[in-house]
Amino acid sequence: MPFPDLDRRLADIRERIAGAAKRGGHGQATTIVAVTKTHGPDVPAAAFAVGLVDVGENKVQEALSKMAQVTAPVRWHLIGHLQRNKVKSLQHFSLFHALDSSRLADAVDFFGTEREAPVDVLMQINPAREATKGGYDLSEVEAEADRLAAMKGLRVRGAMTIARFGADERELRETFAAVRRTTETLASAGHPATENSMGMSADYELAVEEGATLVRLGSVLFGARVP
Ligand SMILES: *Cc1c(COP(=O)(O)O)cnc(C)c1O
Repeated sequence: MPFPDLDRRLADIRERIAGAAKRGGHGQATTIVAVTKTHGPDVPAAAFAVGLVDVGENKVQEALSKMAQVTAPVRWHLIGHLQRNKVKSLQHFSLFHALDSSRLADAVDFFGTEREAPVDVLMQINPAREATKGGYDLSEVEAEADRLAAMKGLRVRGAMTIARFGADERELRETFAAVRRTTETLASAGHPATENSMGMSADYELAVEEGATLVRLGSVLFGARVP
């Protein structure tokens, strides 16, 4: 057992999430995606042992090699950027959080259409327009929601963002509200969109107050990342 106090940490996080959900008043349920990147295969197994069924990785290659070593039936989430020539690897994930461009959407649609089963994805948005991050500009969301609605090879289940490092509370709330609105726009366009993937170790309580249905937690669960 690599983390003897994981169940206590998790109990504290669940309590904080419950408090934040009450304060926020959006009435949503929130699922924790345990982010195990940089850690060994014992960590997803330890997460599953304390009841964390959803596990997130940000790099495809690392995720696939871990999958081969983890026997626990976790649900794998791909939370990081995917190159277009690797869309086939999406068959190994239950949800792809980082659909970040039209060209990638076309490639995912092609793969999902070919295998005759749509790929579940979240539209990643980049509200702060950070050059170092992927994601749609907010001005593109409406037209892209309509364009994606015609695709048979993917299903957009909601929206995702990574808040700007160092953002203050006001900016964080605006960022998270933009995710909520994006999911509403997607639903209006006909997508089965209900998920708001937002909030990491440093800001998950605010994210839950703003309606997060998926929080992606790494260091608050497992400590500092292995370099
Ligand atoms: C690493 C990572 C997380 C988790 O970060 P922590 O701050 O350790 O909780 C969440 N989302 C994405 C996309 C990540 O790459």
